[in-house]
Amino acid sequence: MSVIRNVLIWDSERVDAEYGDIAIDDAGSISSITPPNEASGDTLFDGHGRALAMPGLVNAHTHVSMTLLRGLGEELPLMEWLKTRIFPVEDRLTAAHIRSGAELAMLEMIAGGVTCFADMYFFMKEVADAVITSGMRAALCRGLPGDDQSKLDENIALAKEFNGREGRITVQLGPHAPYTVPRDALKRISKAAHEHNIGVHFHWLETKGELEMFKNEYKIAPVDYLEDAGLLDVHELLLAHSVWFPEEELHRVKRDNVTLVHCPKSNLKLGSGYAPVKEMIDADVNVALGTDGAASNNRLDIWDEMRTCALMHKGYRTDPTIASARDVLKMATVNGARGLGFKNTGLIRERYTADIAIVNLDRPQYVGCDRTNVPEFVVYAGSSRDVTATVVSGRLLYKDGEYLTLDPQEIIKTASRHRTEIIDR
Ligand SMILES: [Zn+2]
Repeated sequence: MSVIRNVLIWDSERVDAEYGDIAIDDAGSISSITPPNEASGDTLFDGHGRALAMPGLVNAHTHVSMTLLRGLGEELPLMEWLKTRIFPVEDRLTAAHIRSGAELAMLEMIAGGVTCFADMYFFMKEVADAVITSGMRAALCRGLPGDDQSKLDENIALAKEFNGREGRITVQLGPHAPYTVPRDALKRISKAAHEHNIGVHFHWLETKGELEMFKNEYKIAPVDYLEDAGLLDVHELLLAHSVWFPEEELHRVKRDNVTLVHCPKSNLKLGSGYAPVKEMIDADVNVALGTDGAASNNRLDIWDEMRTCALMHKGYRTDPTIASARDVLKMATVNGARGLGFKNTGLIRERYTADIAIVNLDRPQYVGCDRTNVPEFVVYAGSSRDVTATVVSGRLLYKDGEYLTLDPQEIIKTASRHRTEIIDR
C-alpha cells in the first residue's frame, strides 16, 4: 500500500475539492480516500497541504512520433501541408525513428501531467513498447490510409498482441479519414472491429471541404455515412476533430461508446474552424480534448488545450458561459479516459486507477486557490509548468523535474540525431 498524503483532491464529480490522503493498493487502484495524514502505508508523495491531486490528463488524439516532424511546413493549408511537407518525410521514417519520436513525446506529456493518450500512426509496436517502458496508459491504432489489407492485418495483429496489456493499453483500428479511405474499405475495417470487439479511431470532419465532399461526391449525410459503415456501434469510436459536425445530428452520437475529440489549437493553427463545442456539451455528447500531432500544434500540452478551449468558444460566440473551466477539465480527464476504453480511470474515487497529476499550489498564481475554485485556477491561471508529479496506476513516473522511467538525456540525443537523418536524407 502506498499513499499520496495531505493533498487537496479534486475530480470532475466533485463540486468542491477536499483535503485528504489517497491510499493506493498494490494493483495500482485507489483503495481509500481518508482525511489528511490518516492513511497508513509508504508515502509516495507528501503534499503537506500545499499540492493539488487531480486525475491525470488525457490527450485523446495525437500522433506522438510526429515530434520528430515538429516545425515542418509551418502555416500551410492542411492538404498542401500534408502532401508537400509531411507525407514525403513520413515515407522515410523507420521503426527506430518512431520509437524515439514517441519517447520524446512522452517526456513532454509526462512532465505536463498527461497520464494517458490516444495515438494513430505506424510501426505501432514500437509505440506500444515505449508505452510499456514509460509506464503511461494509451489507446493505440495503426493509421489506415487507402484500402490496404496488409495494414489492416497489421492493426489486427497489434490488437491481438497488446489490447488489454498490463491494463494500460487498448487498441483500436485506425481508418485515417473519410477523404483517404474508400467507403467499402471503411466497411471492411468496421466489420473487423466488430469481429475482434475493438474500437475505431477516425479523423472526422476536420475541414469544411470534407463536409462538402459528403454533400457533392458521397451524396450522403455524414452521420448516415457512419451508421451505414457500422461504425456507430463499435466497441469505442473516437471521432477526432469533429470541427464541422452538423449540430442537428449531434443527438445521434450521444452514446456511451462514441467520443468526439476536440483539438482546439490544431484547428486554430491549421485554420480549420471552431467545433460546435457548446452544442456538443448541450447535447450531452462525450467530448474529450486532444493536441493532434506536434507538427500541427506544436505542443503536446493539455493545459494549453484546456485554456484555449475555454477561451476561444467564449470569444467566438461572445458568451462567457460557454466551455466552463469545469466542462473543459472534465473533457481533459474522465471523458478522455472513458473514450479511450478505460472505464475505471479519470476520477479520484475508490476502485479507480491511481492516475494522478499533482500540482504545486505554492506557485504565485495559486494564491487564492481554495476548495471552491480549483477548476477555475487550473484552467485560467495554471499551466503545465505547475505539475510537480505524475502518477499512473500508482507508479510515480515523474517527480520534481526527474523522470523515473525514461532517460531524458538519452532520448533527446537520439531524437536529435533522428531528426537530422529524416530531414537531410
Ligand atoms: Zn490527427
